[in-house]
Amino acid sequence: MTPPRNQPPAITPIDAHPLRDRVVLITGGAQGIGRGIAQAVLAAGGRVMLGDLDIEAGQACLAEWQVGDRAAFKRLDVASEASVRRWVAAALKLFGQIDGLVNNAGIADPHVPPLAKLSLVTWNRYLAVNLTGAFLCCKHALPALAQSGGAVINIASTRALQSEPDTEAYAASKGGLLALTHALAVSAGPAVRVNAILPGWIATEAWRKPDERAAPRLSRGDHAQHPTGRVGTPLDIGSLAVYLLSSQSDFITGQHFVVDGGMTVKMQYL
Ligand code: NAD
Repeated sequence: MTPPRNQPPAITPIDAHPLRDRVVLITGGAQGIGRGIAQAVLAAGGRVMLGDLDIEAGQACLAEWQVGDRAAFKRLDVASEASVRRWVAAALKLFGQIDGLVNNAGIADPHVPPLAKLSLVTWNRYLAVNLTGAFLCCKHALPALAQSGGAVINIASTRALQSEPDTEAYAASKGGLLALTHALAVSAGPAVRVNAILPGWIATEAWRKPDERAAPRLSRGDHAQHPTGRVGTPLDIGSLAVYLLSSQSDFITGQHFVVDGGMTVKMQYL
């Protein structure tokens, strides 16, 4: 805000709970990065509606968090428009408003067969979950987000920018998310802001449902190839998500942010 003439700009405190009472919908929110984002939103004072294919994982979150009506779960398949419609309607019925949407659900394994052997079914499945899923969730949540002046975050990947061999379907789906991000930012603004986060290597083993949970097995070399000296965690993504969902980032839209411990800026001569 511009200060009135002849008055010095004030030092205003930074809110420790920038998402107080905000309602954030998180797809694929029951495990991995999605669960990390959900816990960061709760820590910032927000409320979360999880949607996930895995019912057991969703119920485990609610049982382990013990945050009462600040969190809810409903089964969701982001690739099905009927399922997305029901999930968004359930969130509105439970919480009465939607202030944030995080499109995180995805087929996280980037490796597919070589292109000559890549079936159309596999290609379409990656696109349906990783890209069309985000479109469907935006489409159905946008009216409520526009009412509240909300924000959308699309979880893409550094693989939208760089590749290993035999990852075409995954990379294309994540590149599509970046284009969806800037296009929707222009269409949905000024009411709704839309940004993307591009995670690098994030270890999610400790963030799975209880019977699949494990300590990550990471070597010294795994950590050392990151300029920050370590592999990432879901909370590394959660803390940026909180910022992008909060009014502290009100002047930021249509952008994408790499969170990868510096791996994509490190030059390699093998
Ligand atoms: P994960 O497999 O640990 O968790 C994904 C969650 O999404 C699971 O709970 C799964 O049940 C759910 N899900 C899958 N398909 C779904 C669907 N159709 N509808 C609803 N829920 C569905 O994955 P993760 O590693 O936490 O990845 C989360 C997101 O971050 C993905 O979009 C992935 O591409 C992206 N990402 C991950 C990494 C990484 O290193 N972990 C790096 C870059 C990007």
